Order: sequence, then structure tokens, then C-alpha cells
Amino acid sequence: MNIPNSIREFHRAVRSIPGGVNSPVRAFKSVNADPIFISHAKGSQITDIDGNTYTDFVSSWGPLILGHAYQPVIKAIEEAASKGTSFGAPTVIESDLAELIKKMVPSIDTVRMVSSGTEATMSALRLARGFTGREMVVKFEGCYHGHSDSFLIKAGSGVITLGLPDSPGVTIGTAKDTLLARYNDLESVEKLFSKNGENIAAIIVEPVAGNMGVVLPGPGFLKGLRELSHKYGAVLIFDEVITGFRLARGGAQEYFDITPDLTTLGKIIGGGLPIGAYGGKKEIMEMLAPKGSVYQAGTLSGNPLSMAAGFTMLNELNENPEIYDELERKAAILERGIKDNLEKTGVKAVVNRAGSMMTLFFNEIEGVISSFEDAMQSDTEKYAGYFKLSLQNGIYLAPSQFECTFISRAHSEENISKAITANLEALQQLK
Ligand SMILES: *Cc1c(COP(=O)(O)O)cnc(C)c1O
Repeated sequence: MNIPNSIREFHRAVRSIPGGVNSPVRAFKSVNADPIFISHAKGSQITDIDGNTYTDFVSSWGPLILGHAYQPVIKAIEEAASKGTSFGAPTVIESDLAELIKKMVPSIDTVRMVSSGTEATMSALRLARGFTGREMVVKFEGCYHGHSDSFLIKAGSGVITLGLPDSPGVTIGTAKDTLLARYNDLESVEKLFSKNGENIAAIIVEPVAGNMGVVLPGPGFLKGLRELSHKYGAVLIFDEVITGFRLARGGAQEYFDITPDLTTLGKIIGGGLPIGAYGGKKEIMEMLAPKGSVYQAGTLSGNPLSMAAGFTMLNELNENPEIYDELERKAAILERGIKDNLEKTGVKAVVNRAGSMMTLFFNEIEGVISSFEDAMQSDTEKYAGYFKLSLQNGIYLAPSQFECTFISRAHSEENISKAITANLEALQQLK
């Protein structure tokens, strides 16, 4: 694999962009490499500026559940763009997308569009605080909810990948209102509530964690959170920025049959364009300005290009629910293949999977990874080696142990079986 152009462009980028990237996880820092610059992509294949083509399992970190440059989405964007890119005034497609989201996620009575997942979670928290008149929030170690101050505490993903402590710049005043609990440990949540119950506005959780690598909720965990939030009058926020429209048409809340009060969305709902959204119970959502007093706004919110892309994408998912069976089937083949390879090679690792989200943890733990502490036991050096060998074999994975492999509809069975072969070769060389 030759990447002279990427190397040159990275040297150019670092002179004008901090670290050479506009989002830290894109740097290949934790796998001791320089990032590859992308030229174009189609379906499951992504091509760099040196002309190397890879099968992509990053899928833009989740949004591209139907693959790259999906034609109906591209066409919708082109049509929308030709009519103007932004008006700062209401458009019909905003209601079209809102209605579709409500239909697919029945816990959402009304939904507000924003421009990123970060904005969605940040605004949902402000709303929960306004609604309850309380200030504290319970979040889980290793869960990532975007980069707003309240959530940048044990925030998983990019933060742990880069070995950063909780971010400087977050004030002590803000940090003290964020209470940390352990994922899959209801007792740790109960303790926080028994001490601070009257001051806790919300519990926010990734119903399947995707930002410490994939970690599934254990039996009763989400239900327990639902019960605790009811008992203490706190708002339950499911951060479904990854899981929404990925695990099922109705997201993780449909998959596990637990209804949150508020849901945050992003990634898939923009069809690959910048977007976020949050919605839920009418009585809470009505507190938002202009109807209510909780303020939140956005010059480009409900942008017609994002709306057109998102609507086309969700419509496809809504009308073809068999997509989820197809994703499950393909992901299960990949999981089986990798597990067989682990057995064959004797490499110690754990595969965690929920639907089309999966992580191969280089970790000696038996069974599954069920907590942040377990995930942190992983051998990141080994992952770095695995990542590089995979790349040489034409497989583009997340440049971090603590991320998801995303399977899209565009992955053919041939792509999957090639990925299994590449995995075997990489594991054999890693031994
Ligand atoms: C990606 C992500 C976010 C943040 O979304 P951005 O669009 O990157 O701001 C929030 N929550 C979860 C669970 C995410 O995976």
C-alpha cells in the first residue's frame, strides 16, 4: 500500500488545521499512523487520493447505513440544492421529516431539528433541566454524547483513544453537576439517586454503547433506568445518535422495548449531511421556545439539503424494514467468521455485536465486554497492528479500538467474506 499523496496532504493540513483534522478521531494517532485522505466512495468501497480502494466499515462513523453516494439520496440533495441552499424560514420538508421520524419512533410526539448530535444532546439536557427545575445529570463512564461541556467527563471514544483526561476548559462548576455512573451497573445509579435524587434532572445513556466499542446493555439495565427515572421524576434521555434507525426502524427503544422521555438523534437522519434532532414527550417539548421558555435556536437548523437527504434515507428504511433482517444476517456472518478465525489462530479477543454494530476487542476477558472497565483492559497496541494489517488487506476500519465496525446494506456477501479472509490473515500475522 502506497500513500505518498496522503502523506503529502497530511503535512499540508497540519500547517493550517489543528492536528491536520477537523475531528480528532480522524487522526490515526492511536494506531501510530498518518490518516488517509479520501477522494471518493461508492457503495461499500472508499478510494483514497493515491488510488487505493478499500472496503469501508467506518461508514462515516455510522450515518451511511445504505452505503456511500446512495443514488436516491444524492438526487434528493441535487434537487434541493438547485432550489436554494438555505432560507432561514420554514419549509415543507421539515414537517415531512418530522412526521416520518414520529412515525418510526412512536415515543416522539414532536421533534426539533439541529445541525449535529452534539447540539441535540446539549439541547435535550437544557430542556430536561428547564422542565424539572433541577441541575444535575447522570451519565455513564465511556458513553459519548458529543463535545458539550456537561458530557466531556469520562466521555469514551476520541477522548480515551487519545489518552486525554477529562477535557481542560470544562469548568469545575459544570463538571460538578455531571454525576458519573457505571454502564450496566444499576446499583451505581441507585446510589447517585438516593443521595441526590431531588436534584437530578436527567439520566442520559447510549442504549447500546458505541463509543467505548460496542457494549450491550445487560438484562434489566435499561428497564432499571426507566424505573429509577420514574421513581425520582428525572427525565430519561436515550442518546440514539448511533442506534437510531440502525438497530431497528424505531432504534434501540424498539429493539429493547423501553420508552424514554426524550430521544436524541443524528448521524443516519441526515443521510450523510450535517444534522441532529431531539424529540419526545409533548409536555416536555412544549417548554421549548417559541412556545415555552427554554431557548434553543439554529441559523441552519432544518437545512433543506439535510432535510432532503434525511427524508429520502429514512423513507427507504421505513418502506423496506427487511433491510434490518439483511443487516442482521450479514453482520452475523461477519461475527461468526471472525469468531472462527479467533479459534483457528488462538488469538485472544472478544466480539461484541448488536445488529449492524460490532467491535472486535483485543481483550483476554472471557465472554462479552459489559463495562467500560472491561473495555479499557483491551490491548490497544494489538489493535493498532490489526488496524494496519487490515488496511494493507484493503479493509478500512475505525482507527481506534473503542469504536464500532458498521455494516451497511451496500456490503455484499463477497465484501463480507473478503473481510473474514483479511481478518484471518491479520490475526495470523499478529500472533
Ligand atoms: C456521534 C455521537 C454524538 C455527537 O454527534 P455529532 O454529530 O458528532 O456532534 C452524540 N452521541 C452519540 C451517541 C454519538 O455517537
